[in-house]
Amino acid sequence: MKALRKMRPQRGAQLESVGIPTLGPTDVLARVRAASICGTDLHIYGWDRWSASRIHPPLTFGHEFCGVVEKVGDEVTTIRSGDFVTAEMHVNCGHCRPCRMGQPHVCQNVKILGIDADGCFAEFVRIPARNVWKVDPAIPEHYAAIMDPLGNAVHTVLAGEIAGLNVLVTGAGPIGLMAIAVARAAGCATLFATEVNAHRRELAMKMGADEALDPSQGDVVQHVLDATDGAGVDVMLEMSGHPDAIHKGFQMLRPGGRASLLGIPKDPVMLDLVNDVIFKGATVQGIYGRRMFETWVQMTELLKHGRLNLEPLFKERMPLEKFDDAFSLLESGQAGKILFYPNGSAK
Ligand code: NAD
Ligand code: ZN
Repeated sequence: MKALRKMRPQRGAQLESVGIPTLGPTDVLARVRAASICGTDLHIYGWDRWSASRIHPPLTFGHEFCGVVEKVGDEVTTIRSGDFVTAEMHVNCGHCRPCRMGQPHVCQNVKILGIDADGCFAEFVRIPARNVWKVDPAIPEHYAAIMDPLGNAVHTVLAGEIAGLNVLVTGAGPIGLMAIAVARAAGCATLFATEVNAHRRELAMKMGADEALDPSQGDVVQHVLDATDGAGVDVMLEMSGHPDAIHKGFQMLRPGGRASLLGIPKDPVMLDLVNDVIFKGATVQGIYGRRMFETWVQMTELLKHGRLNLEPLFKERMPLEKFDDAFSLLESGQAGKILFYPNGSAK
């Protein structure tokens, strides 16, 4: 089969011909219909410091997809060939302390398909059956392909109260944009977004933000404080990983508010703990991955009842062969969620 692989510890990737994965008794083989590119894939392609420390080539990368089950292992009883599926690509161990305490999303021995083992930028992908998620027939195919990052957004937004509250989303990349739609669907009050990229500020408005602010122009902190009667927002959803956004975000958070941090800074970030957290009595939480499988259930309900309009995110659909163009486009910051079709055209 055709697979997009990282072959060497350097920038770039190669389209290779490799064998179709063989199945263990509890595995599922899916024929990939659509695979979507994540920011992490761009890091792997570009080969930054993080990739160099984590990725061991050769590796088929990609971890966001939907597809049709081709074959199942002998012991698999809940999934059948022909099922339309996506998957939780964080494979937890089941025996570490967090796993045993019902928190498999922070498993200490997690292996991520597409990062630590072969992923979905290929005609076929192998997944342990317990990680396969059958897609509700009411959910459109292109939405099924992005349930992994949408799950990050759903997990973050629903990690605390949201209805009737004023919300700030810092960073309107794909996940920040999805978080705006989810927060709206969950009944938030005024929604502010901060984003340095003009194109993405426009998208933030399309996704349902009340105001999309440019933090490099004027005093956004004062603006949001003024717009919230001096209090600040009730909830801050950090989706940029940028230190400036994190600092400003905490300054915009009201005393007693919730800060949910998903964005991953490149380097350690200094916080003014006294003023921004302690004296504020703020609740600060790290968000990693998706809760297994509570987030998947919530996301399915939101999607199948048509509560989320994610159309503004989709523009580009490409064959796997155009991977260089896809990654350049993504690097330019002008792309939406780019979908690959490893088994043929998007129709
Ligand atoms: P992205 O890089 O496309 O989006 C980040 C956005 O933040 C960009 O649009 C960028 O222009 C904007 N930004 C940069 N500096 C800013 C500033 N000072 N103020 C406001 N906005 C600023 O990433 P994404 O794919 O949308 O993911 C969002 C973040 O979440 C990334 O940091 C990613 O690494 C992280 N992530 C975390 C998890 C997790 O499990 N915790 C999972 C997936 C992604
Ligand atoms: Zn574990």
